[in-house]
Amino acid sequence: MHPILQQAYDPERFRHDGHRLIDLLADALAAWQRREGPVTCYEPPDAALARWQQAMAESGSDPVAFFRKYLDETIHLHHPHYIGHQTGVVAPVAALAELAGALLDPGMGVYEQGNVGVVWERLLVRALADRFGMDAARADGFLTSGGTLGNLTALLCARQRQVPGDAWMHGYGGRQYGFLVSEEAHYSVAKAIQSMGMGARGVVPVPADARGRMRADLLEDVLAKARAEGIEVIGVVASACTTALGTYDPLEAVADFCEKHDLWLHVDGAHGAAAAFSERYRHLVRGIERADSVIMDFHKMLMTPTLVTAVVFRQGEESFRTFVQKASYLWAEDETAEWYNLAKRTFELTKPSLSVRVMAMWQVFGPELFAANVEHLYELARRCHALLQAAPDFETALDAPEANILCYRLRPEGVPDDRLDALNQAVRQRLVEQGDFFIVQTRAQGRLWLRSTLINPLTTEDDFAQLMARLRETGEAVRRAAAV
Ligand SMILES: *Cc1c(COP(=O)(O)O)cnc(C)c1O
Repeated sequence: MHPILQQAYDPERFRHDGHRLIDLLADALAAWQRREGPVTCYEPPDAALARWQQAMAESGSDPVAFFRKYLDETIHLHHPHYIGHQTGVVAPVAALAELAGALLDPGMGVYEQGNVGVVWERLLVRALADRFGMDAARADGFLTSGGTLGNLTALLCARQRQVPGDAWMHGYGGRQYGFLVSEEAHYSVAKAIQSMGMGARGVVPVPADARGRMRADLLEDVLAKARAEGIEVIGVVASACTTALGTYDPLEAVADFCEKHDLWLHVDGAHGAAAAFSERYRHLVRGIERADSVIMDFHKMLMTPTLVTAVVFRQGEESFRTFVQKASYLWAEDETAEWYNLAKRTFELTKPSLSVRVMAMWQVFGPELFAANVEHLYELARRCHALLQAAPDFETALDAPEANILCYRLRPEGVPDDRLDALNQAVRQRLVEQGDFFIVQTRAQGRLWLRSTLINPLTTEDDFAQLMARLRETGEAVRRAAAV
């Protein structure tokens, strides 16, 4: 064997480097908890590309020196001043699980290889269905790589049940099908529908109210209008919760509508279906038990590394309709419903060991950990929202948040309304370049908002107050520089 291969697989080398890496990461976690160091070191993309192009030419680096470089350059979600996107802040036990899963890496497509991981997927999906209030023994599903792919997989199944004939085999026969989708739905929903070849007309928009929630009272009108235009509506996609404002669509009303018209109900619960773990907040997803399919990301509020998405079907047998593919080298029978050969129902064939990331947390801490995080983050968001409301120079998009997402903006005295978008955009850009805080921005209600997801349980109200002070100072600096 070539010595380089021997080195690459040397167990003692792994032990030695692994211990050093864990020390490096644990020290970094402790430093971030003391609020040391920046959240991010912003560098223009072309500069970073050129620098790394050079660095890539030099190999032979000590692995820990390499990891240190990576750690220094990457954004630090564990820093309590990371108050940006919905991306989960990974619990260390889930990261250890991923390390184990990544090293063993059996692939989850078929039971012969995936074995225990395949069993865990079914148990986790059914436990989740139970939280949603579904009949867990009938429900089924799997884990997949992200909400985007989860939405596509669920909607493909919806199509197969609702479109007459066999769309998987024969396509649409020239007919125009579509889904009713709230105008505030995540863009991955439109991406899925258009990927299925239904075109832009396949996405039939349902207006949202000022809080961003689907107007269930308009569904009848929207359906009638779509039908009049020749669109055969096959389902409705509701959000729990929406991405921009973090508000929950009225699932019970939407479920009533779907039952009345025999439409598939898909709930995109990527972010907010996790509320089902909390006795205090599960009322937000009331009605989810009536959905035909639901997706939920574990990698948002439930602390796993990306991407771990549960796709849950209320009537598990329906999930076998999605793909009927011949693959005699993988399984003996093509058309039977074998729950344990997951690749019959997922987009992926070879799939990472997703379930170990969730199961490790479940076995070590129990689902109480998930409930605790949801409740902590939702309450933290409410307290930070109160700080914003008490400040005369800030305004908020909502009178009260429903989830852990806040949209707000600076509104200093003397700045005309039509300059506020530009001011807030400039302030955010400076903030990201300074690197001490990380927040994002979004457009809603016709305005640009600063947007923070309280996703790091180590963030405190005091951190948020410091963020507000920094935004205020930066706003003054931007105005002094006459940039706005
Ligand atoms: C995050 C999110 C998605 C996309 O999920 P990925 O895991 O990033 O692919 C879809 N819908 C909603 C509502 C989301 O919050």
